[in-house]
Amino acid sequence: MATELHHELRGAVRDLCGRFPGEYWRKVDEARGYPEEFVTTLTQAGWLAALIPEEYGGAGLKITEASVILEEINRSGGNSAPCHAQMYIMGTLLRHGSETQKRRYLPKIASGELRLQSFAVTEPTTGSDTLKLKTTAVRRGDHYVVNGQKVWTSRVQHSDLMLLLARTTPLDQVKKRSEGLSVFLVDLRTIAGAGLTVQPIRNMMNHETNELFFDDLKVPAENLIGEEGKGFRYILDGMNAERILIAAECIGDGYWFVERATRYAKERVVFDRPIGQNQGIQFPIARAYVNVEAANLMRFRAASLFDAGEPCGAESNMAKLLAADASWEAANVAIQTHGGFGFAAEYDIERKFRETRLYQVAPISTNLILSYIAEHVLEMPRSY
Ligand SMILES: Cc1cc2nc3c(=O)[nH]c(=O)nc-3n(C[C@H](O)[C@H](O)[C@H](O)COP(=O)(O)OP(=O)(O)OC[C@H]3O[C@@H](n4cnc5c(N)ncnc54)[C@H](O)[C@@H]3O)c2cc1C
Repeated sequence: MATELHHELRGAVRDLCGRFPGEYWRKVDEARGYPEEFVTTLTQAGWLAALIPEEYGGAGLKITEASVILEEINRSGGNSAPCHAQMYIMGTLLRHGSETQKRRYLPKIASGELRLQSFAVTEPTTGSDTLKLKTTAVRRGDHYVVNGQKVWTSRVQHSDLMLLLARTTPLDQVKKRSEGLSVFLVDLRTIAGAGLTVQPIRNMMNHETNELFFDDLKVPAENLIGEEGKGFRYILDGMNAERILIAAECIGDGYWFVERATRYAKERVVFDRPIGQNQGIQFPIARAYVNVEAANLMRFRAASLFDAGEPCGAESNMAKLLAADASWEAANVAIQTHGGFGFAAEYDIERKFRETRLYQVAPISTNLILSYIAEHVLEMPRSY
């Protein structure tokens, strides 16, 4: 599992992240800014192009290595969320795009000239029920006209390209609900103010996320990815990668919380002894560590199946669930161990606590993962 390559990757990413300590992230968080310098440095070092094949200018690494990179970012106290999507969104383009599209975009994404950070799927009125989404794209000659609304579309303001899932055939005219959805690569640079309104959503973390309103937005037909009507399948293909990578970020968070809690428990003296001498403090930290370790095994299991081209839906979902639970448990333990100081911004615990909480809900909520396992692994009746 811990190959020579992983060791080198970890060392290199750790060195880079060392230049962006807690103080950097705290300032970005306080300003509700975007970690521009960090993302640029990461891009220039080639890490965000890890999954792009070498023939298109990327590193040609696998999902296991990509997950190690994101884990290390979170494990260093940073946050991968401002840029992680660049790693997995491009998979849709890579697997289903035409050779012309791949040659046009992938080398520029790999070099950092173009940012593909944004992915518009979720809608306000349909939420997790993706197949019912209402945004439409209607073909008119050499372009599609898009109308509708998205919500929680992250990083649009820091992206040049956006993947968009829209309905091209009405729901009542398809045989299967999963048909009739299509994926488009929207070039955000060319459409500013012409059919797209972006409304930022202020949220619990410092996460750039938005509501989008489409009003007769024109998207060239050549920007359709793959075949019209098959978009949902293309998006599903990328979801296992997304789950594994998010799991890795949670594992990075989990180790960070455990490490911080352990260190503080050894140093903080109350009642004339380190608080870590009390088993009431030790045991929750030890348990959190056990759970992060267990989630880590499932993450590597899912990643190795993915890299071998084997089915990995169950393992990817389980890795995401276990890792999100483990990081959230570790976050709570870290805040408890720090007592009042857990709430002070200068310790970074409260920031990471807010950041890791997201993964109980996004990109897929815990309930929907349990539902997947119940239905597809345990073969219980479909509940929705
Ligand atoms: C900060 C942030 C960033 C995001 N970024 C993106 C992005 O870039 N692109 C994008 O497309 N989306 C994004 N999302 C959306 C995210 O994927 C959704 O919030 C998530 O999938 C849940 O959908 P929802 O919020 O509509 O919740 P809902 O679907 O309304 O669900 C609400 C709650 O009910 C539960 N629930 C719903 N149905 C069932 C059921 N049948 N059984 C049991 N429980 C159920 C859910 O688990 C959830 O806890 C982001 C969200 C956030 C908060």
